[in-house]
Amino acid sequence: MGRTRNYMESVEVLIVGAGPVGVTLGCELARRGVGFRLVDQATRPFEGSRGKTLQPRTLELMEDLGVIDRVLARGEPTPPIQVFSPNGAVDVETLFGDRVSTPSTPFPRPFTIAQNLTEDALRTRLAEMGGEIHYGTTLIALKQDEAGVVATLETESGLSQIRAAYVVGCDGGRSKVRQLLGIAFEGDTDESRRLYVADVRIDGLGRESWYSFRGPGGMLNLSPLATTDLYQLQASIPPTAPDEIDIEALQNIVTTRSRRDDIRITDMAWMSTWRMNVRLAAKYREGRVFLAGDACHVHSPAGAQGLNTGFQDACNLAWKLAAVLRGAPADLLSSYEEERRPIAAWMLGLTSALEAQAFEKKGFPTDREEGFLQLAINYRDSSLTAEHRRAPGGVVAGDRLPDATGLVAQGQTFRLFELVRGPRPVVIAVGQGWNATLADLRARYPQEALAIVTIAPGGIEDSNGHFAGGLGIDGDALMVVRPDKYIGFAGDHESAGEIVPYLARLLG
Ligand SMILES: Cc1cc2nc3c(=O)[nH]c(=O)nc-3n(C[C@H](O)[C@H](O)[C@H](O)COP(=O)(O)OP(=O)(O)OC[C@H]3O[C@@H](n4cnc5c(N)ncnc54)[C@H](O)[C@@H]3O)c2cc1C
Repeated sequence: MGRTRNYMESVEVLIVGAGPVGVTLGCELARRGVGFRLVDQATRPFEGSRGKTLQPRTLELMEDLGVIDRVLARGEPTPPIQVFSPNGAVDVETLFGDRVSTPSTPFPRPFTIAQNLTEDALRTRLAEMGGEIHYGTTLIALKQDEAGVVATLETESGLSQIRAAYVVGCDGGRSKVRQLLGIAFEGDTDESRRLYVADVRIDGLGRESWYSFRGPGGMLNLSPLATTDLYQLQASIPPTAPDEIDIEALQNIVTTRSRRDDIRITDMAWMSTWRMNVRLAAKYREGRVFLAGDACHVHSPAGAQGLNTGFQDACNLAWKLAAVLRGAPADLLSSYEEERRPIAAWMLGLTSALEAQAFEKKGFPTDREEGFLQLAINYRDSSLTAEHRRAPGGVVAGDRLPDATGLVAQGQTFRLFELVRGPRPVVIAVGQGWNATLADLRARYPQEALAIVTIAPGGIEDSNGHFAGGLGIDGDALMVVRPDKYIGFAGDHESAGEIVPYLARLLG
C-alpha cells in the first residue's frame, strides 16, 4: 500500500460505484446542486449488455431526468420472441404486446437497450451537468461519527481520505460498503442454476425478433441488441460447466440447442457466467451510509428488474439526501429504507417465480404479470404518505402520479409530466378557493424549492378531462407531487392546512 496524503477533502456525498445506479444518483444530486464525489474501482466503464430491458416506470423517470431521447435512440421496444420447441413448433410471443400508450401511460411496454448504452446515456447527462467520475479509485475503509464519514480511497498514486456528510454504496452485489458496515446479505446462492451470458456477433439469424430455443439440453436465448451488430446470448448450463468458455464451445451450445448449423458465432465481445443468487440486505442504512442497487438486492435476471429497481432506489434517495443537506429534517432519510426495501423483497419473489418457470420449461419465461412494468409500485403505507381526503378517487397518496395529456395554458398544450418535470416537489391545486393556502406556501418557500400550479378554469385547463379522469378527481383537491413523481400528500379544503407540516418534512 502507498502513502496516505495528509490533507482531507470534503464533499457532501461520496458515491461508491459508477454503475447505472451510482451514475443515476450522481445525476439526481447534480440537478439539485449537491456536491459529490463519484468513484469507481474500474479503470473504465463496463462494456457488457447485461441488463438490457428498461421498464416503463424507469423510462418515465428517465424522461424527467433528461436522458430519455438518448435512451430511445439507442434501443427499441422489446421485439416479439420466437420460441422454438423440440417438436419443431414455433410460437411467437410479444411481452405485454396488447399494451398501447394512453394519456396516463406514455411508455406502455418494456424497452430493450444494452446496459452499456443506458450507462453511456446516463454518463453523458452527468457530464452535461458538470459531474465527473473518478475511475481507478477503490473504497477500502469507512469510519463514521455523528457529523460525517471519513472514507479511505486507494488509487495508483496511493491512499487518500475524504470526508463526506453521507456515503452511498452503489458498488454492486459484492458491495465493499455493505461489508464494511457489517450488514448481512440475507438469502441463497444456488450453484445448480447458472447461465452463460455473452455479447456475440452472429451470422445466419435475423434481427427482427428475439429467439428462444427450448430443449432437454437447456435454454438458449439470442436477442439482437438494437443499434449494435451484437446479440445477447443466454444459455443455461449445468453445475459442472466451466466458468470461462471460448467461441468454439459456445458455438457447440448454439448448434445443439438451436438444432441448426447455419447460425454461426463470428465474434464474442464480452462473456460472463451468472449464478442464481437471491439476496436482500438486512438494512439499507447504517448511520450516514446508505446502500442502493445491487449492493442491497440481487436476484434472477428473469423479468428484467435489477437495474430498474436500482434506478428507482437512486431516484428515491437522491432528493431526500439533497433536501436534508439543504435543511429538511434528517428523519426524512429514514423513509428511504422504509419505502424501498419492501419493494425489493416483493421483486425478489416475483423474479424467483419467473426463474422457476424458465428452468421448468427450459425456455424463455413469457408468462408475466403487470407488476414487472413497475408502474403499480406505490408507497401508500409509507410514513411519508399523507392521504387526507375523506373520499379519495382511484389514485391516492402514495401512488405514482399518472401522466395526462391536453393541459392547456396561454395557448400552449402540454402533458402533466411536463408540468411537474424537475428536481423539486410540486403542489397541484385543483379547482378554486386555494388562494390563501397557496399564498402562505409562496411566502414560505422560493420557487426553486417548491413549484405551485393550479389546474382550474382560467388557469391551466384540463381541456379533455384526462387529468381529472386519470387521477379519479371529482371536485377540488390539493396535492403534493414528490420529486420522484409519487403523490406524497392529498387533501381537500377541510384538510388544506395539513400541507404546511407535510412540506416542512420535505423541505424544512
Ligand atoms: C445476465 C444479466 C441480465 C440482466 N438483465 C437485466 C434487465 O434486463 N433489466 C434489469 O433491470 N437488470 C438486469 N440485470 C441486472 C443489472 O445488470 C444490475 O442490476 C445492475 O448492473 C446493477 O447496477 P449497480 O449500479 O447497482 O451495480 P453494478 O452495475 O454492479 O456497478 C457497481 C460498480 O461499483 C464498482 N465498485 C465495486 N466495488 C467498489 C469499490 N470498493 N470502490 C469503488 N468502486 C467499486 C464496480 O466497479 C462497478 O462499476 C441483469 C444482470 C445480468 C447479469
